[in-house]
Amino acid sequence: MVKRKIIVYPDPVLSLVSEEVTEIDEETQELIKDMFEAMDEEVGIGLAAPQLGVSERIMVVSIKEKNFERLAIINPVISFFSEETVVIEEGCLSIPGINMDVRRPANIILRGLARSGRLVEINATGMLARVIQHEIDHLDGVLFIDRLSYKDKKAIEANLQALNKQYSAASP
Ligand SMILES: [Zn+2]
Repeated sequence: MVKRKIIVYPDPVLSLVSEEVTEIDEETQELIKDMFEAMDEEVGIGLAAPQLGVSERIMVVSIKEKNFERLAIINPVISFFSEETVVIEEGCLSIPGINMDVRRPANIILRGLARSGRLVEINATGMLARVIQHEIDHLDGVLFIDRLSYKDKKAIEANLQALNKQYSAASP
């Protein structure tokens, strides 16, 4: 059984800027374990801590590319964005039922800490670069729907309203 449920839009925790992790302790390791578990349960390819209601700068990725199949990064920072951009369709476990094309830089360099506390640097392209940018956005309180044009956002207005309704019905 999954320990923590994925928080769904428009829960305000998804709009918060997350805090840097100052110490990688037992709690951090537990959280990362729970993040992988929640992501796998939904067959996702990435998850950020705020999606489990925790405002800490931690992300996990599960993607078959290079040797980074299972990646957890603490305090991730993108130190390089390519000028070249690419359009890829995105979805989000916190915004069920909505998939839209989003344009972002094609290649990035990611720096952060592995679970062991070791400093890592990853040169990412393709889907890996895309997922990393999507997850780091979560740590800054930004969702992929925030990056849509006015016209595209209009196109999904009804879906967002449905999520808003579900959310207010479920909240006390
Ligand atoms: Zn997401």
